[in-house]
Amino acid sequence: MTKTYDAIIIGTGQAGPFLAQRLTAAGMKVAIIERKLFGGTCVNTGCIPTKTMIASAYAAHMVRRAADFGVVNNGPVSVDMKLVKSRKDAISGQSRTGVESWLRGMTNCTVYQGHGQFDSSNEVSVGPERVTADRIFINVGGRAVVPQMPGIEGTPYLTNSSMMDVDFLPRHLIIIGGGYIGLEFAQMYRRFGSEVTIIEKASRLAQHEDEDISTAIREILEHEGINVRLNATCIGFSRRGEEILADVDCTSGDRKVSGSHLLLAVGRRPNTDDLGLANAGVAVDKRGYIVVDDQLRTSAPGIWALGDCNGRGAFTHTSFNDAEIVGANLLDNDPRKVSDRIIAYALYIDPPLGRAGLTEEEVRKSGRRALIGRRPMTKVGRAVEKGEAQGFMKIIVDAHTHEILGAAILGTGGDEAIHSILDVMYARAPYTVIRRAMHIHPTVSELIPTMLGELEPLSVK
Ligand SMILES: Cc1cc2nc3c(=O)[nH]c(=O)nc-3n(C[C@H](O)[C@H](O)[C@H](O)COP(=O)(O)OP(=O)(O)OC[C@H]3O[C@@H](n4cnc5c(N)ncnc54)[C@H](O)[C@@H]3O)c2cc1C
Repeated sequence: MTKTYDAIIIGTGQAGPFLAQRLTAAGMKVAIIERKLFGGTCVNTGCIPTKTMIASAYAAHMVRRAADFGVVNNGPVSVDMKLVKSRKDAISGQSRTGVESWLRGMTNCTVYQGHGQFDSSNEVSVGPERVTADRIFINVGGRAVVPQMPGIEGTPYLTNSSMMDVDFLPRHLIIIGGGYIGLEFAQMYRRFGSEVTIIEKASRLAQHEDEDISTAIREILEHEGINVRLNATCIGFSRRGEEILADVDCTSGDRKVSGSHLLLAVGRRPNTDDLGLANAGVAVDKRGYIVVDDQLRTSAPGIWALGDCNGRGAFTHTSFNDAEIVGANLLDNDPRKVSDRIIAYALYIDPPLGRAGLTEEEVRKSGRRALIGRRPMTKVGRAVEKGEAQGFMKIIVDAHTHEILGAAILGTGGDEAIHSILDVMYARAPYTVIRRAMHIHPTVSELIPTMLGELEPLSVK
């Protein structure tokens, strides 16, 4: 028998549950479908568990550095990975059960557990059950890509999901991929005590960032003893007993890296291949991302796609913002759009990188006249006092309008301090607003006005 609802939501990632709350509060009957873990990637295998483990790694790092602060710790530092995992499981689990009980307790919301698949543009099956609605919202997220590299079939590997079950210390973790997921795991496991090698096929880490940021990140990681192999053009794998051998074929150094465990962190793909999208007339691009317009409508009337599966963002905050956009358009007569938002994200190595807007390179390519301000963290009192003075910050403003075009803070507190810049960008106010503001001492943010007082023309190069 088919049950009829006002709306169906497939997936309980970062958009679905919030949207369910908005729709039910507006009086709609909603069915929400989850095939695996409530809360999706961020809660179970992404942001929350990784940032919880990064906190354990930071604690280990600070204990090792105790003497730098005049703190005496004569014993050896060791990390109990079972305890690290159980702390992570508790925090992630609390969030997962929170999402599940929130949805189950929501008036007018019915939870279906199972794999949802379109039968037509307004019908979805979940196992033997079938639900129908005139409005369907897809929030199915993505999963790790397993690249077809030579030898991968015969080689045991981990992804960000299976890493969550690891409760031991890998002797030598080889990480394929120098993007944000690979870098976070690299520093975390190094601090837990593993030997770590990052193998990246590009010529630098975090290749979408400006070159000065990539270089600084590499220096931070190498300073902690992480091996970085760049320009790895022909990555492949073989075994020698228990050892995993990765071919690197780099321009310099050993041709093979030998390690005990292998983590693949080479990107993500959308969970759209098993959704029956063709039955609903929902178009995808050549990488499988659902094609949406600026208000997240798909090619099929009455169907929207939110979160990582639409290719318009790959973060928890972009997915949540998608739900706000859809809610505002449907319920508030407020025509919010994806293009209203400003790119912003953080990379949670330590010190973190907070980013907003355009990169220096993107501004240069745009050909507009711009001004740039820079400041090393060695000239930020708070960073020096904390003994965490690695990194730098920079900001770029339009030379004519004085609007802020972009900023990066690679340094202690950078993930928080970037927001004072981001909010002024949203206000479309000139940089002089921050330049004249009185900030609190001693903070990282207090040096942003100072940096803005030392702007220089951005060279064309
Ligand atoms: C290691 C790692 C670290 C990360 N760290 C950060 C971070 O620090 N900050 C940040 O902003 N982002 C981070 N991200 C990205 C972030 O996790 C995602 O962008 C975020 O979870 C948004 O996902 P989503 O809402 O699109 O869907 P997801 O959270 O992926 O949820 C999709 C849900 O849909 C379900 N589903 C899929 N198909 C079906 C189906 N057919 N039927 C029923 N259910 C289905 C899945 O089981 C899943 O529960 C990280 C990601 C990873 C992998």
